[in-house]
Amino acid sequence: MNPDDPSVLDAQLTDVSKTYPHGETAVTSMNLGIRRGEFFSLLGPSGCGKSTTLRILAGLEQPTTGTVAIAGKDVTDVPPNRRPTNLIFQKLALFPHLTVAENIAFGPKIRRMSRTEIRAVVSDMLDLVELSGYADRKPAQLSGGQQQRVAIARALANKPAVLLLDEPLGALDLRLRVQMQRALKKIQQDSGTTFVFVTHDQTEAFTISDRIALMNQGRLEQVGRPDELYNRPATEFVATFLGDTNIIRGSVDERVLRSGAFSCRTPGPGTALSVRPEAIAMRPKLAAGLDNRFAARVTDLTFQGPSVRFQVAVADAGPELVVQLPAAEAAGIAAGDEVEIGWQAEAAVMLGAKS
Ligand code: ADP
Repeated sequence: MNPDDPSVLDAQLTDVSKTYPHGETAVTSMNLGIRRGEFFSLLGPSGCGKSTTLRILAGLEQPTTGTVAIAGKDVTDVPPNRRPTNLIFQKLALFPHLTVAENIAFGPKIRRMSRTEIRAVVSDMLDLVELSGYADRKPAQLSGGQQQRVAIARALANKPAVLLLDEPLGALDLRLRVQMQRALKKIQQDSGTTFVFVTHDQTEAFTISDRIALMNQGRLEQVGRPDELYNRPATEFVATFLGDTNIIRGSVDERVLRSGAFSCRTPGPGTALSVRPEAIAMRPKLAAGLDNRFAARVTDLTFQGPSVRFQVAVADAGPELVVQLPAAEAAGIAAGDEVEIGWQAEAAVMLGAKS
């Protein structure tokens, strides 16, 4: 089977909703297809329904409506232990009295694999997570990152069709977290297993995922590759959740947006436009040729290392905008300066257009 074939779905939710007994609706009418062999992330603010969605895939929550299929089979009524899925939490729950090798062998033993097979699986998994020299250690003799790798190896030893990961890196410090993101991505690619990963951290989701589902209040806002979500957000929520942006609301006529006395050229119809801070040029005097060009005044700036973030006020009571310049281009521009800012119409994304 071709792992890149988008028609092969390893996890599928059809019209799934979940209302908890006390009336809280965590997931509403969700339709989602996760492709075989992809690293897929559920991203969104706390409480938007990510964990509930993952737990529905695992079988730990029963959906109120809708169906769940894993590896092409309807598993809506199949209990968690009979599903071809494994779930990893932030809290690892490794067996402290067992060695690394014994922890990894646990699932295969329960499934009554032969000793030779178990030895082979344990050795493969240790290789996969790069812990070959650690087979005889106990979890307490490992670092946090190494314990994470053991937990992943232990889950993958069961050969799940889909590995479900609920904020597994949440408890790690930033440095280790970034290291583990790279390690996880490599393990996913080497194993070819479908991973579904829950995170509220946009940078983490961008670093690690082939595709992302951005959720908001129990609904899917947009599903796509990280660059698609960033460059072509479908909604204002997506545009603002993923990085900084400037939203300008107004009425658009003939590709011109008007908001009070302010107007600018747009790439199309809509009720608002989103223009990223890094898409806006700023100089004391800009060269001609930009579709949109305004006099403005710098009201504040923040040094960010490789770049500088400016707060600017467009002249004549125009909008307050954020502009981000590479540090080299920002040199010499100070708070209070009169400048020119501008952007090409096509650099903005229109939101709220009727389709
Ligand atoms: P996330 O993982 O995005 O933080 P959750 O799926 O954990 O979100 O929660 C979604 C919503 O469902 C939240 O409002 C939460 O309070 C509610 N919720 C989660 N679990 C339960 C439960 N067992 N009983 C009642 N409400 C719950």
